[in-house]
Parts: sequence; structure tokens; C-alpha cells
Amino acid sequence: MQQSVPVIIGCSLSGMAISQSLSQACIPHIMIGKAPNNLPRLGESINPEGSLELVNFFKDFSQFFYEKKLTIMAMGNYYFHCNFTKMINLKSVYLFLKLLALGNKVPRDLYHVDRRGFDQALFESVCKSSYLTHLEDIVVEVKHNPKEDSIESLSLASGEKIIPSYVFDSSNHLRIVGKALGVPLDFISTPQKVVYSHYHIDPKREEGDKNCKEWQSSTNLLRLGQENDGVNGFAWCIPLEDYISVGISMNVDDNDCSDEEILDLVAQAYARRGLDYKDIYNETSKIIALRQRYFIHERAYGKNWLLVGGAYGQIWFMSGSGVGTSLTAAVIAPKLLKNPRKYAQAYQNYMKKFLCTHSVMEWFCSSNIEEVSPEDFSEKVDQWLMTNIERVSQYPQIRGNTLGKVFSFFSQPFFKWNILKVSSFGARRHCPTYKIKKEEKVWSE
Ligand SMILES: Cc1cc2nc3c(=O)[nH]c(=O)nc-3n(C[C@H](O)[C@H](O)[C@H](O)COP(=O)(O)OP(=O)(O)OC[C@H]3O[C@@H](n4cnc5c(N)ncnc54)[C@H](O)[C@@H]3O)c2cc1C
Repeated sequence: MQQSVPVIIGCSLSGMAISQSLSQACIPHIMIGKAPNNLPRLGESINPEGSLELVNFFKDFSQFFYEKKLTIMAMGNYYFHCNFTKMINLKSVYLFLKLLALGNKVPRDLYHVDRRGFDQALFESVCKSSYLTHLEDIVVEVKHNPKEDSIESLSLASGEKIIPSYVFDSSNHLRIVGKALGVPLDFISTPQKVVYSHYHIDPKREEGDKNCKEWQSSTNLLRLGQENDGVNGFAWCIPLEDYISVGISMNVDDNDCSDEEILDLVAQAYARRGLDYKDIYNETSKIIALRQRYFIHERAYGKNWLLVGGAYGQIWFMSGSGVGTSLTAAVIAPKLLKNPRKYAQAYQNYMKKFLCTHSVMEWFCSSNIEEVSPEDFSEKVDQWLMTNIERVSQYPQIRGNTLGKVFSFFSQPFFKWNILKVSSFGARRHCPTYKIKKEEKVWSE
């Protein structure tokens, strides 16, 4: 029986980030779970908060981070280019964070992350800490005291039993604690089937083929439609150094194609719009398929437990928010152990803000492509940006010092005004939406 220290369930990015944070604060803790494997994984395009935390929190791992200069998204007859770092609004929010709250390095760009390399390197690094006891095991039972709303013990597959002082549930969609405690949850999307893989660069290609095209430093999102593309869903193409990550999320049971056929349809759909990734990256890794449904729990915490990132809630992947929400939990973890209620509530408030972005994404995913008007499209793109800017401007309230919190609170009307007024010459200029002209390619040289 292991006694009364904080326990992290899950040994992927969220769990390891929390472990690193606790070790830095000299807090002994236990992390339970299997070491990261070498398979393609999700969570490679990172939102503003995630990018900010990556450069500050994981300074020694920058070899796994690649600049994301643009987000390009195409849907039916329209597309947009979003240059986040040139956007006046986001810049002002970032500057604000730097001056008032965090005082840390503020990244010039947002990031793509080579998760396979990063997770494995991070695992080696966190395991060196003398504050961590890593148990390569699985939690099979969570004993809860409903009166106290606290977790009393965790039973492991090996038969071992742990009495935790605090539990960070980093089990992602498996929701070990949420399920065991019966925390109510809302599903906020239809059930999805996700199919994805990595494509590696053809070894015969010249060095110069890497990163020379605009899409090779962009997150490339594409809404596909049954009529034109043979499959209805939302796809991503995220370039990393020697490989790209490609996948699609679609309604479960929407078509009978095999996983391989689905990814072929995705490749053809991108190629038709000017992004022929298979021309450069044609060595396929293992194809992975999973079921997924976006959700949010009614609450993120109890007396001695927190549902971290994807274990509390998950929203549409285009938001690139999963990694960021985990890193936020990691950064506040030591403070949370000192004052659980205050910081867990702040975390829950922060997480709930993602629901606004999710509703916008839901529109992109569920609208009938043929019926979308240019006005609707531009309005939704603006909303996407605004929900991001608003949320980032409130970030010091969870992450900053007292001065940052106070300024963040009182500056909200300014940001709201700024968002409304400046979007016409700030966000719009750096995030224009276009109508596709006849024969025009969304992704060009
Ligand atoms: C289609 C899709 C695309 C996405 N794209 C992005 C993106 O572009 N950007 C982004 O930021 N996020 C994205 N996400 C979200 C992202 O994948 C996750 O939020 C992120 O990878 C963090 O994962 P994690 O470490 O919390 O969980 P995981 O990587 O799922 O790890 C959870 C760990 O918990 C362990 N575990 C589970 N149960 C137990 C148990 N009982 N005992 C011990 N261990 C246990 C598992 O073995 C696993 O190792 C996407 C999600 C989806 C579905």
C-alpha cells in the first residue's frame, strides 16, 4: 500500500506535464500508466495558450516544435487564411499577457508538435526526477467517499492499492474518475469515427522539398462533402518535419469504406484543391481508427480530485485545444494542491469557455456545404477568432500573478470593444475569407 501523495492517472502528455510541474515544485508524487508508444497520435496542432505554455514549460524540447504560420480552412465554395501571429488582436492579447501577467517568453508563432518524439523524450526526462514514482500499471478501481466527495483509494491491476492525497485524472476520453464517480456529462456532438495516419517523406525526394510550400507550415483543414469527395467529414493535414499527420472525423456509420479507402478519399480531396501531399509524403504509417464523441462533464473537480484536459471535456479538434488545456492544468498543479477549491474552480471556469468555440466548430461540421452563404461563412470565421481572443485575454485570471488577474478582469470591456472594432481592419485583414473562383485551388504553390 502506497500512502498519501498526489497521484496522476495516465502517463501521456497530460500526465507527464503534471508530473514535470510537481517535480519542479519538489512535490513527491506517483504517476500510473504505460509509457508512451511509437504510434501516430492526436494533438499535433496547438492553440495560443498551448503554444505559450510549450515554449515556457518545455524549453528543452524545442526540437519537437515547428512553427505554425497559418491556419487554412476550406469548406464548400469558401476558404480562409488565418495568420494568427499577424493578427492585431491576438498580438495585443499576447503583449498584454507578457506585460501584465506572465512575464515569460511569448512565442512569435503558434506551434505544431511532433508528439511521437516529444512524448517519448518527455517520458525519459520526467522519469529522471527523484520526486516521481512511476508505476507501469493500470487503475482498475476508484473508491469514492460520496459524503466527502473525495477519492479514498485506487486499486491497480497488479493488486497494489494506493491511498492518494489528491488525484489528477489524465486518462483523457477513458474518463476513469468521471466514470467511477458517476459525474454527469453532456455529449456535445454526434458520435464520430476518426481515421488517421502519418505519411513520411519519400526518401528519394530532395531536401529542398521539405517546408518550401505554404501548406508545409500551415494547419490545413478541409470540410469534405459526400457529393464531391465521396465522404462527408472534417479532415486535417498537419505538416511536421519529415512527415505529415492526416486524418478525418466523420459521423459513425456514414459510409462503408475501409479505413484505407477513407484516407485515399481524403488525399484525393486535398489534391483536387491543390494540396497533393502524397506527391512528397507517400510512405504510410499504421492507420488508426477510433470512435470519439465530444463531451463535457458537469464539474471538473471534487475535494481531492481534478479531471484534467480531455478527461473533463473535449471539443471539436479544429480548435487545437486538447494539449493547451492539459498544459494549463499542469502549470497550476502545485498551486492547486495548496488551494484545491480555488484553483480547480478557476480551471473549470476556464475550460467552460471552450464551449463557445465548440458551437462555432459544430456549425462548420454540420452545415450543408451547398447552402452556406459567404456572409454565414465570414461571420462564423470571425466568431471563431473572437472566441479565441476573448478566452486568451482572460488567461491571466487562471495563470497570472495578482496584478495580471486584476488587469485582465478590468480590461475585458476593452478587449470586447477591441474585438468588435478592430476585427474589421485587424482580424479580417490577416484572416481574409475567399470565395473559390472557377478552377481555383485553395492551396497553391
Ligand atoms: C480527432 C482528434 C484530433 C485532435 N487534434 C488535436 C490537435 O490538433 N491539437 C490538440 O491540442 N489536441 C488535439 N486533440 C486532443 C488531444 O489528442 C489530447 O487532448 C491530447 O493528446 C492530450 O492527451 P492526453 O495526454 O490527455 O491523453 P492520451 O494521450 O489519450 O493519454 C491518456 C493516457 O491515460 C492512460 N490511461 C487511461 N486509463 C488508464 C488507467 N485506468 N490507468 C492508467 N492509465 C490509464 C492511457 O493508457 C494513456 O496513456 C485531438 C483529439 C481528437 C479526437
